[in-house]
Amino acid sequence: MNRILFEKEHVKDIRNSFNSNLAMIQIMVNMPGPNKNIYPSYELFQLGIKSMLTYLKQNNIDIKNIYIIHSALGMIGFLQINKDARYIKKICIMLEQNNYLSKYWDIDVFNKMGIKISRNSMQLAARKCFICDRPAKECCFLQRHSTEQLVDKIINDYNKFLCCKN
Ligand SMILES: [Zn+2]
Repeated sequence: MNRILFEKEHVKDIRNSFNSNLAMIQIMVNMPGPNKNIYPSYELFQLGIKSMLTYLKQNNIDIKNIYIIHSALGMIGFLQINKDARYIKKICIMLEQNNYLSKYWDIDVFNKMGIKISRNSMQLAARKCFICDRPAKECCFLQRHSTEQLVDKIINDYNKFLCCKN
């Protein structure tokens, strides 16, 4: 757990090091458990970033810079954009609402001051647990579901996605 906390701080440092007066989208995979780099974490990340790039293009949003890093938290993408962060957040929310696998993506938008645009400030409900539909934070805090159960659910959903696609 300490390592994960450390990595989260590290991600913040990395994000701040890009500091350039631009808004930023941060995208990663929401993988449960201590080991974030397990199947299908990489596959979900690739799908997430591809969907994101396509969707931004469809909405005529130019990306100034893209950085992708490997970390103990899995792969993380940083996209710098010269637009209002709240507008970008809205676009990201629409992307999430139109994607079956988006519940496994962790998409955050930061304004040019580096401050995160919260779901709350956009009148959005907190994320739901993908197993039981209760608030995700609550299940996480209480460790209501085992890592194995969570990972199994992700693998099942990813396999379903692959079946439907073909
Ligand atoms: Zn739950």
